[in-house]
Amino acid sequence: MKLSISECKEKLKSAEMILVGVGKEFEVQLDDVIKYNEIYKKFKDDIDSMPADEGGWLEYAIFYHELVSGKNPIVEEKVELLNKLYEMLEGKNIFVISICNHDIIRQSRFNKEKMVSPCGTTLKMECNVGCKKDVYNAIEIYEKIYKRLELFYKDEIFDKQYIMQFIPICEKCESLMELNLLGSVSYSEEGYLDRWEYYQQWLAGSINRQIVLLELGVDFNTPTVIRFPFEKINMINTKSTLIRVNEKFSMLTPEIVERATSVSKSSKNFIEELEQV
Ligand SMILES: [Zn+2]
Repeated sequence: MKLSISECKEKLKSAEMILVGVGKEFEVQLDDVIKYNEIYKKFKDDIDSMPADEGGWLEYAIFYHELVSGKNPIVEEKVELLNKLYEMLEGKNIFVISICNHDIIRQSRFNKEKMVSPCGTTLKMECNVGCKKDVYNAIEIYEKIYKRLELFYKDEIFDKQYIMQFIPICEKCESLMELNLLGSVSYSEEGYLDRWEYYQQWLAGSINRQIVLLELGVDFNTPTVIRFPFEKINMINTKSTLIRVNEKFSMLTPEIVERATSVSKSSKNFIEELEQV
């Protein structure tokens, strides 16, 4: 089936449920984001002189500050795009599944309770030898580190020894903590399991209902998280519609062509055109 942009919009408008799959097109790169930060510009060489797994915490503290500042151009471009989509879908029963690590989606207006990130998030941390599977909130650490960096900036002195005491270590085995990301040495799935269960319940409620699966810029990196499951839901639920938006990989498998449409555009273009029609 081939749907025009305005037909896609009609489908979204008449849907009872909408499942949004957020792909790597909404990811940002740490380096691109933090280079706008004045503290980072001043102390970049000092941070680079630290061991990577320790200095990395300083970079992520700066990243977090930029993420929530509402002023970083790289972050805001993505957030604004997501908010445009949100405004068009407002009031609908929506769930968001994301494969992005940097949690741009959490800065948007989408409901944070109805969001799951199975590939992990830079907002959580775990022991880097995996001595236990517990996952902790990293935000408090970022805020503590950033507060010290601000003082360094004011005093124009970077004190490496002092800042080291704020780098998080495991309370059980005293190893360094690492970010809770798929691909980390000791990735713990504990970080997303409660949202995952909620997602499964939500999905179970979509049987026989008009659901639109809106897949935005999802490539083949981790196809088992969004791409393949969306195809499966589309195959099983005869009232579902899959809208696959992807500049390069919008192809559909023969089994789903009946109820799926491919849009060979970037998500940015798709959302902006959706706004126009
Ligand atoms: Zn440990």
